[in-house]
Amino acid sequence: MNRIYMDNAATTRVTEPVFEAMKPYFCEKFGNPMSVHSFGRESRRAVEEARRQVAAALNADSREIYFTGCGTESDNWALRGAAYARGNTRRTLVTTTIEHHAILHTAEQLEKEDFKVVYVPVDEFGIVKLDEMEKAITEDVFLVSVMTANNEIGTIQPIEEIARMAHAKGALFHTDAVQAIGSVKIDVKAMGIDLLSLSGHKFHAPKGVGALYMKNSVHIERLIRGGAQERTQRAGTENLASIVGLGKAIELATADIDAHNAKLIEMRDHMISEILTRIPETRLNGDATRRLPGNVNVSVRYIEGESLLLSLDLKGIAASSGSACTSGALDPSHVLLAIGLPHEIAHGSLRLTMNEENTMEEVDTVVEALVEIVKRLRAMSPLYHAEKQ
Ligand code: PLP
Repeated sequence: MNRIYMDNAATTRVTEPVFEAMKPYFCEKFGNPMSVHSFGRESRRAVEEARRQVAAALNADSREIYFTGCGTESDNWALRGAAYARGNTRRTLVTTTIEHHAILHTAEQLEKEDFKVVYVPVDEFGIVKLDEMEKAITEDVFLVSVMTANNEIGTIQPIEEIARMAHAKGALFHTDAVQAIGSVKIDVKAMGIDLLSLSGHKFHAPKGVGALYMKNSVHIERLIRGGAQERTQRAGTENLASIVGLGKAIELATADIDAHNAKLIEMRDHMISEILTRIPETRLNGDATRRLPGNVNVSVRYIEGESLLLSLDLKGIAASSGSACTSGALDPSHVLLAIGLPHEIAHGSLRLTMNEENTMEEVDTVVEALVEIVKRLRAMSPLYHAEKQ
């Protein structure tokens, strides 16, 4: 069976050029980057080259990039580091209701530590309500954290505007750009970003490596203490090969964003229009245009997202019914509830996320499969028959 992978928001494969770049750093060039001898220096040079590549992709300086263990660590560091560095004078964090759990669960922990957190709502398309954001940012706010793009419904936020609002009140601005790298052009200087999280495995680097961009003039507390790695800000022997992979992958992912997006938008919009016209009682979740070029998220009435997933999987098609981190739990996605979907519709949602390796032919195959599956599942659904009588 020819399998089709449309779960690129959960993770991506390591591509051959990235793997090739990493290979020497397992068996041949294995020195500890902190060692002063030639083995160490060789590894140090590779880490610094990767740092330069990440910085170039964001229009940052190399000294502003810190390697971490994953996007989750970068998010934890940004929020907690800012809270502990500024907590004497400012006690409030402002974020949104649709952030990833890496942000939301960290925010909940800060609340337990007597910080205040304001969760700004989004509109029906998943765009942050700017008037409410402006009201929420007071002189007590140490950090505003808003994701660049949502992992479930793909909505892209007006982060430049929000960064301006944060700065007007003396707050720092952090963005979780984990889903955005390679699809949204990021210029940390022009966009007024103080802190930015990214994660390698979303753009063809391996799992378990990430980075935090921290503007030169910004100071936050360190989270992981120990050795003097990452200019003393993040201890732990560097994940050498993965860092090399991250550098190569971000260079490739940001080389030609316009061409990459043009192809994906065509596939995305074709898939959305086919699903909405050929399958009755479906709806698109998220904004039609302010969305990641590879993201399709639809709700199919009278059907459980999990049943759709299993049926697609039997046909070799990989999708997701929510974010990878929440599927497996039966709670409906907090993001779909935040855009106002009733529970029963949120339960019937399906996310298909493409990247440049997918083809229009695959899109058509997936649509055909979905048309057939929905027809079959609805035919078996007592709920569907009860409603239709
Ligand atoms: N933030 C967002 C928006 C994500 O989509 C993810 C992963 O799904 C993360 C953070 C966590 O990244 P990682 O898997 O590297 O910990």
